[in-house]
Amino acid sequence: MRHGFAPGRICSHWEDQMRILINGRTVDEDFIERVEEISEQNIKRCMQCGTCSASCPMEADMDLSPRVVMHFTQMGLRDVVQGANTVWICASCHTCEARCPRGVDLPKIMEAIRLLTLRKNKDAVDPRQLEATVIDEAPQAAMVGCFRKLTA
Ligand code: SF4
Ligand code: SF4
Repeated sequence: MRHGFAPGRICSHWEDQMRILINGRTVDEDFIERVEEISEQNIKRCMQCGTCSASCPMEADMDLSPRVVMHFTQMGLRDVVQGANTVWICASCHTCEARCPRGVDLPKIMEAIRLLTLRKNKDAVDPRQLEATVIDEAPQAAMVGCFRKLTA
C-alpha cells in the first residue's frame, strides 16, 4: 500500500495555509508515546525556536518544516504529521541535531515517525513506478538505501 501523501512538493509552507482543529479528541496520546519510545527523545524539550528549520538543507521541499513537525508531534496530530512528506524528505544529515539548543535529536524523531508508518505496511515509494532512467542510472547503493528507508 502506498503512503497517503502526494508525491513531490505540495507547498513550501503548507503550515501557513492549513487550518487544524485541535481539541481533546484530536490529541493522539499513543502517537506521542510511541514517537518518544522509539526515538528515545523527550519531545517536550523542544521550545519551538525554529533553529532546525532555519538550518535544514531540505526544508524548501518539505510540506511541514522540521519545527512544525515537532510542534504537531507535541500536539499528537498523527494524521497531519504522517500525511506530510517531511519525514521522507529528511536526509538524516543531523544538522538540526547539531544546532538544536535543547539537545533534541530530531533525525531520531523523523526516523520514529517513518517507522510508525512503515509498520503499517505503507510504503513511501513504489519500486514498480520508478522511471526506467532512474533504474538505469541511479547507483545501486542509492537504490538499496532508498528502499530500506522508504519501503516496509
Ligand atoms: S532547534 Fe530544537 S528546540 Fe528549536 S525548534 Fe528545532 S527541535 Fe525544537
Ligand atoms: S536531519 Fe533531516 S530535518 Fe534535520 S537538518 Fe537534516 S534533513 Fe533537515
